[in-house]
Amino acid sequence: MSIQAPEYVRSIAPYQAGKPISELAREYGLQPERIVKLASNENPLGIPASARDAMVAAIGDLGRYPDSNGFELKAALSQRYAVPPEWITLGNGSNDILELAAHALLQPGVSAVYSQYSFAVYALATQETGARAIVVPARSLGHDLDAMRAAIAADTRLVFIANPNNPTGTFLRADAIAAFLAQVPRDVVVVLDEAYNEYLDPSLRFDSTLWLREHPNLVISRTFSKAYGLAGLRAGFGLAQAELTDLMNRVRQPFNVSTVAQAAAIAALDDADFLQRSYELNRRGLARLQSAFAQMGFEYVPSHGNFVLVRVGDADAVFEGLLRAGIIVRPVANYGLPQWLRVTVGLPEENEAFLEAFARVTGR
Ligand SMILES: *Cc1c(COP(=O)(O)O)cnc(C)c1O
Repeated sequence: MSIQAPEYVRSIAPYQAGKPISELAREYGLQPERIVKLASNENPLGIPASARDAMVAAIGDLGRYPDSNGFELKAALSQRYAVPPEWITLGNGSNDILELAAHALLQPGVSAVYSQYSFAVYALATQETGARAIVVPARSLGHDLDAMRAAIAADTRLVFIANPNNPTGTFLRADAIAAFLAQVPRDVVVVLDEAYNEYLDPSLRFDSTLWLREHPNLVISRTFSKAYGLAGLRAGFGLAQAELTDLMNRVRQPFNVSTVAQAAAIAALDDADFLQRSYELNRRGLARLQSAFAQMGFEYVPSHGNFVLVRVGDADAVFEGLLRAGIIVRPVANYGLPQWLRVTVGLPEENEAFLEAFARVTGR
């Protein structure tokens, strides 16, 4: 290699995305329409009609740059979450928010703390800054907040928490997170990634934004990619007090959220009906997958997201067998879980197609 790049860049393991439908169709000679993709925690309902209309209406403006400050979307979010617009950062998906926090706060010589088996982007965002990663062993495949608190070092600037977590689907209760926030040093920023918040059972929901007032070191990250059905659009947001928001804004690309994405997000945010349908469909689909796994005798992690982690043993072989049947799920060996597969909840007919093929491939 003659190109000079920092070792911390060369050593990054590139993100492994779910296999695209078009790729499987090409490789296995399958009809794209017959392929079922349950690999990337996408919303099986597709995009909300309200967002489609808003996007069509916004297309005429695409000759101009987007509103860099996202005035209207921030106004809508400000109302929804009862925070001032100065506390809102818009992101090109919420992955962008995770990176903005990392770029604003990390550098070689400092560290970030996150859990084993937590979202892959935390490792990426940490490594690309040259900061040191402190990976805390999981407890029952979820975050061990006591151990994470104890792992915070003098040079730690950032802690990532996913709640619910991907790829495991585990959930931390509000009191546990509140206690954690109360113990974290004020100069250590906590990113609370709530990408699956809208899928939580109402009895488990809590208003994490209330913590923002007490904790100037807290960033709450949310996305339009999951329950709002807009994964391909790339829109997410971060909520934090003004000082932290200002720092993240300094490392943000000025036009990181497109005009159509801003328009669609405003419409989706207002579409309570779509959100409710997403929630209901997921609740029923999740129950169906989990009870089928239990019946077939497979260990799984009870999930609070729109996916289930199931222990299949030889995950490579099961993954391959499912691909041949036109079904894409997600191997998680890159997370250190080589015996498991992550299956996204689909439409009822997609779940049934998966279960039928899964039973055949595993011989249960
Ligand atoms: C899917 C997911 C996100 C959202 O990513 P986007 O960039 O908003 O599409 C963030 N965090 C976790 C844990 C996720 O699983």
